[in-house]
Amino acid sequence: MTKNRSKRPTPQFDRELCIACTSCIDICPTGALEPEIRNSIHGFRRFPVLSQEEKCIRCSLCEQECIVGAIEMKERKGSGFKVQGSGLKT
Ligand code: SF4
Ligand code: SF4
Repeated sequence: MTKNRSKRPTPQFDRELCIACTSCIDICPTGALEPEIRNSIHGFRRFPVLSQEEKCIRCSLCEQECIVGAIEMKERKGSGFKVQGSGLKT
């Protein structure tokens, strides 16, 4: 059986920093990331979501690819997007 994946580092996205370029989705070698249309301060954009966590091999390529530093590999605590209140990261 699979381990508790919530305790394993996976990409966490900062929607305030993300410019929805989808480069992280393109670079992911396993297809673990998929675009999802979400509203933001930039309007409706295609943001990455870790839709298939079981496919994530925690290679950090997405984190390295992100030019704005919107991805951080850490333990998952929610949907993968860190948004609180006004949307500002805390
Ligand atoms: S850590 Fe690697 S496998 Fe996981 S989502 Fe990022 S690029 Fe894909
Ligand atoms: S590479 Fe960074 S800025 Fe581009 S979609 Fe992914 S998280 Fe957002």
